[in-house]
Amino acid sequence: MYDPKSMKAEEFISHEEILDTLAYAQENKSNEKLIDAILEKAKLRKGLSHREASVLLACEMPDKIQQIYALAEQLKKDFYGNRIVMFAPLYLSNYCVNGCVYCPYHAKNKHIARKN
Ligand code: SF4
Repeated sequence: MYDPKSMKAEEFISHEEILDTLAYAQENKSNEKLIDAILEKAKLRKGLSHREASVLLACEMPDKIQQIYALAEQLKKDFYGNRIVMFAPLYLSNYCVNGCVYCPYHAKNKHIARKN
């Protein structure tokens, strides 16, 4: 059962939801009205859902793609200014409250010493 608010990986990472989202994106990639609404929502800087993001990623209409690029550039400049920002994991601690089962730092692993 898909539950994005769950703390259990098997509930918030759903294969079925991923497939449904990809199908939703394909169904709506040419839906101008929906794409315009998503772009208006993006301008509010409150974030998009994964389904909304999937529609923008699947869009193949050149004029809409240019609008997406222009808004993405504007948002990037608003947040980070005129500079290049690179992200890389930087581990300052091995104390994590999450539960990614593939990772030894997950909260339920009581077998390692924690460093805050
Ligand atoms: S440190 Fe490990 S458990 Fe914590 S969020 Fe990252 S991958 Fe998941």
